[in-house]
Amino acid sequence: MAAIKNLMDKLVGLCKRRGFIFPSSEIYGGLNSCYDYGPLGVELKRNIKDFWWKAMVQTRDDIEGLDASILMHPKVWEASGHVANFTDPMVDCKICKARFRTDEIKPEKAGQCPRCGNKDSLTDARNFNLMFKTYMGPIEEQANVVYMRPETAQGIYVNVYNVMQAARQRIPFGIAQIGKAFRNEITPGNFTFRTREFEQMEMQFFVKPGTDMEWFEYWKAQRIQWYDALGIRKSKLHFHEHTEQERAFYAAAAFDIEYEFPFGWKELEGIHNRTNYDLSKHQEYSGKDLSYFDDATREKYIPYIVETSAGCDRTVLTTLIDAYDEDVIEGEARTVLHLAPVIAPIKAGVFPLVKKEGMPEVAEKIYHDLKKHVPVFYDDGGAIGRRYRRMDEAGTPYGITVDGQTLQDQTVTVRDRDSLVQTRVASDKLLPFIQEKMAGYKRLE
Ligand code: ATP
Repeated sequence: MAAIKNLMDKLVGLCKRRGFIFPSSEIYGGLNSCYDYGPLGVELKRNIKDFWWKAMVQTRDDIEGLDASILMHPKVWEASGHVANFTDPMVDCKICKARFRTDEIKPEKAGQCPRCGNKDSLTDARNFNLMFKTYMGPIEEQANVVYMRPETAQGIYVNVYNVMQAARQRIPFGIAQIGKAFRNEITPGNFTFRTREFEQMEMQFFVKPGTDMEWFEYWKAQRIQWYDALGIRKSKLHFHEHTEQERAFYAAAAFDIEYEFPFGWKELEGIHNRTNYDLSKHQEYSGKDLSYFDDATREKYIPYIVETSAGCDRTVLTTLIDAYDEDVIEGEARTVLHLAPVIAPIKAGVFPLVKKEGMPEVAEKIYHDLKKHVPVFYDDGGAIGRRYRRMDEAGTPYGITVDGQTLQDQTVTVRDRDSLVQTRVASDKLLPFIQEKMAGYKRLE
């Protein structure tokens, strides 16, 4: 795949046109950094979440799921350090009023506004807390302040022993959660890359101190493999080890999985050895004993935590960017999304070659039969080439066409979106054929 000019602009256009992602409240001019997932987008996002849940919860014996509430006791955020420290230092331009995170200002351009270019126009840095505040109940006073959670992890920490006892787990084991998080980011942007409301897919793995680095390496390997299975090109992924300055003071090790976006290498997921910091803090603030007693060894300790924290919306965006391609088929330009079949919103398009000779009836029957098992789309409008291209643009991996021969021998053609190879398949064998192709899918670099 060659590099594509203005990829982000093209992708934003495609997302709107095809119903992956719309700007929020568009008829009112939109709301900065908020987006809505349309019919194809909601399927893609759901498929990604299901793929993560399957890998992290359903196929494992040592991880349990959780769905904690967004609003939590305000003390949680004091214990976690978010009230005191979840801040980004920011500067304002006195001339054009633009606002930046201090880490966006290059040291050699200190004081100069990156937007209007005026020198010595930036204010001193001020800390800006990223948590959204609201009030619980009718009275808006300090005593009633609650926060919209800025991460899903804390819901897991405070429930560790509830889950452990209910699910009869013992250490080492993990808790996984997918849910919304909110951060009043100073500079959201790059489409859905950085937004103020987003979903996280987090897993916290509780281990015995001393075994933490082994588990950390294990989870690093598991997680990068997951992106490969998701169909993201290997050459676009790497690990970035946190520098001393980047790493939280309590973390024993921290790596990010990064993807090469059109706007640079950026974090997709953080994998952190958080030591026993989180549970120690909650023990201190709640006054509850949060240590674990190991029956077998008669040892008592506060578990260490290895965290894998991924962004769901960021993963959706990454799959779209990584899948986007333009090529020319028989002299005609096409836009195609090489989405892995497992996450593609629609698995197959079903088309009668022409709207006569009984072909639509046969195609409709195939469509209704398949739809009971996999999401498929019926289209009989326009030239067959155009119908293929509409599905290519939606990332649909297979195109099933009923033609003259179908009426003779009950076979149809199955066109592969990526190789363009067409295979004749008996129409009553379509489902296993597609399932086998989906299972054997391999992303080409
Ligand atoms: P960044 O450095 O990009 O702000 P972070 O280090 O603060 O990210 P974490 O707190 O580790 O991020 O959150 C885990 C994951 O949640 C990130 O890897 C990312 O995928 C996602 N995420 C974090 N902030 C946002 C956001 N504002 N918009 C979308 N996704 C986000």
